Amino acid sequence: MRLLAAWMTIALAAAAAADRPVEAARTAYLMGTRVTLVARAAGRELATENLESLLQSLEQSEALLSTWRIDTTLGRLNAASPGEPLALDPGLCTTFQKLTSWHERTGGAFDPAVGPLVDAWGIERDPRVPSDAEIRSLLPASRLSAWQFDPVGCTVTRPPRGRLDSGGFGKGAAFDAAVRLRLPADGWLIDLGGQVGAHGQGPFGGWRVGIADPRRRDREAFAVRLITGSLATSGGSERDRRAGVRRIGHILDPRSGQPAPFDGSVVVWHEEGFAADVLSTALYVMGPEAGLRWADREQIAAVYLIRHNNELVIRSSRGWTERVRVGRAIYTGVSGMGRL
Ligand code: AMP
Ligand code: MG
Repeated sequence: MRLLAAWMTIALAAAAAADRPVEAARTAYLMGTRVTLVARAAGRELATENLESLLQSLEQSEALLSTWRIDTTLGRLNAASPGEPLALDPGLCTTFQKLTSWHERTGGAFDPAVGPLVDAWGIERDPRVPSDAEIRSLLPASRLSAWQFDPVGCTVTRPPRGRLDSGGFGKGAAFDAAVRLRLPADGWLIDLGGQVGAHGQGPFGGWRVGIADPRRRDREAFAVRLITGSLATSGGSERDRRAGVRRIGHILDPRSGQPAPFDGSVVVWHEEGFAADVLSTALYVMGPEAGLRWADREQIAAVYLIRHNNELVIRSSRGWTERVRVGRAIYTGVSGMGRL
């Protein structure tokens, strides 16, 4: 009898091992950042195939939207002759519609047309402090409203000096495109550095995602379990530069043309990667006070990590707390921070 029980235990363990999905992972360099991909599937071959499909999808998104390279669709749009309407393919037309609607909804805090200002501050290259006169002269060309967009005919007209910058939404759009693949997988996760997205079943019903402490980014402030959708973080980062003693943050307030003064970070959860990406950038610009009021009004799940003297203060919107409490989409596996 004891022998039979032992045999049954072994048989069950073997069955459990056979049922357990296999996990495959790889890293790549895309969109100016290191990307980590993890896929779970019934067998190694399928898991690897899925990784390959995810990677291809990310490469396609990069070829479409990246402004890190000039040979992309958006790169070509940025090089178009000013004043001449350019036809957009249906995908880019929808993207433009979404950009316009988020730009309006965030009161202009999110503006993908900030390119000329990003260049003037040397954010992607050598940081510098432009004069007030230079900023004033660039503001008109750095607004989305300067790009004439016709949603019916799907055309867009570039203004003189206009440059769209996908830094604030490209990663989110890439995640959504990967979801649309509908891969036959037990789940996958993409970490695009600052933006993490998960789809399907993760290990133990979700994926553990550590949120960096803005005071020391190699340290984790807390962790959340991501079950679905995407978490986007905007914050002071290695991309922030200095010009002399002045810190030049890489996120600009498009309304003033100045770097947003907030120096902590903000995390947004949204089912749609595009929305999470756009919103974390917009809420960073708004800062914690105005940002939390806005997030509560708009029912957005957001959490600010604020530096106060040398302490870390965590403030979350109602949408975030509700999700954390209900635990439907995300919940905290708090490490050393106490409950949110
Ligand atoms: P993220 O890290 O997603 O918040 O995006 C920041 C990047 O988006 C910057 O490095 C710029 O390329 C671009 N950007 C800066 N300020 C804004 C803004 N207010 N709205 C949209 N994109 C921005
Ligand atoms: Mg963003």
